[in-house]
Amino acid sequence: MSNDEIRVSRRSGLKRMGVAGAAAFFGGATPSFPADQRGPDEYPPEVTGYLKRLFEPGQQRFAFRPDYPGGFQAWQRDARAALRLRLGMDRIAAAAGKHRPVVETGEPADMGEYTLQQCAIMSAPEVRLPFWLLKPKGKGPWPLGIFPHGHSATGHNTTAGVFTSERSKQWALSEDRDVAVQAAKAGMVAIAPAVRGISWIVPDLRKRVGTSCRSHAMQCVMAGHTAMGERVWDMERLLDWAIAQPDVDSRHILSMGNSGGGMVTIFLAASDQRITVAVPSCSFAPSVSPAGYILHCPCNTVPGIMDLGGLPNVAGLTAPRYFLAVNGRKDKLYNPEEIEAAAAAAKAIYRASGHAERCDHRWGSEGHRFYKDLMWPFIKESFALPSKA
Ligand SMILES: [Zn+2]
Repeated sequence: MSNDEIRVSRRSGLKRMGVAGAAAFFGGATPSFPADQRGPDEYPPEVTGYLKRLFEPGQQRFAFRPDYPGGFQAWQRDARAALRLRLGMDRIAAAAGKHRPVVETGEPADMGEYTLQQCAIMSAPEVRLPFWLLKPKGKGPWPLGIFPHGHSATGHNTTAGVFTSERSKQWALSEDRDVAVQAAKAGMVAIAPAVRGISWIVPDLRKRVGTSCRSHAMQCVMAGHTAMGERVWDMERLLDWAIAQPDVDSRHILSMGNSGGGMVTIFLAASDQRITVAVPSCSFAPSVSPAGYILHCPCNTVPGIMDLGGLPNVAGLTAPRYFLAVNGRKDKLYNPEEIEAAAAAAKAIYRASGHAERCDHRWGSEGHRFYKDLMWPFIKESFALPSKA
C-alpha cells in the first residue's frame, strides 16, 4: 500500500448491493459500481429495533424541517449553535485559555509558477502544527484555500506537492491529490495544514485502540472535546491568521479535502461562515446508514450529531454559501444509494434557503480520490475567478 493514504478499515460481511441494484436505482443510466461497495447493512434481528429507536428521526430536534419555528434562518442559528456545542468548541476554547496562536514562516522557495513556504502554527497550548503555504507570483490579494488532508501521516506534504519519492509523486498526481498546488496555480493563496490526530498524532501506545486517530478521539471525548472539534479549531486559527495577511482576499475562502479532509471541510464550513465554498471529496454520506451502520472513521464521531440528523443537515448549514460534494463511483467505503439520498437531503435544505443552485453533487468515475476536473469549475464559478487555469 502506498505510504500516503491509509484507508480506514471497516467491517466486512455487509449486504451487497451489486451492479444490478445500483443500475436499477439510477434508472439504468449509471454505469457499474463495485459489487463489494458498502451496502445497506443487515444487523441481527434482536438489535434492529434497538438501532431504529436509537436513531429515531422524530428525536432529531435540530434536523431541518420546513416548518421549523422561526423559519430557515432560525433553524440555521439554532442548529449551528447546537453543532458547535456538540463539537466541544466551548470546551476547546476554554482549554486554550488566553493562548494567542503564533505562526512561524519559513523562507519562500521558488517553485516556478508559485512560491512554497514551510510554516507552523501554535494553534493551542502545546500544539504546534506544521503547514505549507503556497502563493501565486505577482501582486495579490488572492482568494484563499485551506486543504485539510485525510488519513495519512504525510497528508499535508502530498497536498502541497512535496514528495519524497518519484513513486509517491506519480501516485498523488494520478489522483489529483496536490490540491494546494492546483490552487496556487489557479491564483489562490493555499494552506496545506497537518491535521490533528492524523499527521500530528498522539500515538496509540501499545496499540490499545488500534489507530492513533481513534485513541486521540477517545481522549478528546473524555475531556469534553471532539477530535473533529479540535480540527475545526485548528483550521479556524489558521483562517484568523491568513485573513489578516494583506495578500489574502477574504471575500473568497475555499475549504476542500478528500476523505477525512472532506469531513473536516464539511464541519468547518458548517461552523465557520468565513468559508464561502466547501468541496468535500469522497466523504459526504449519511453519518449512519438507515440500518444504523456507522459510515465514517471513529475519529469523526461527534456525540449527539444525530440531534441534527447527521451530515446532510450539517452540510445544509453551509447554505447559502457554495457546497459541492464529489464521490467516486468505485469508492468502496460508501453506498451510492445512500450517498444519493444524503445529497438529495442537502439539496432540499439549499432549496429552502432560496439558493438551490449553490449545492451540487457529482460522481467521479474512479475511486477514493480527488477529481480536479469536477471540482475546479464549480470553485471558479463561485469565486468568479478568471479561467486561466
Ligand atoms: Zn480516523
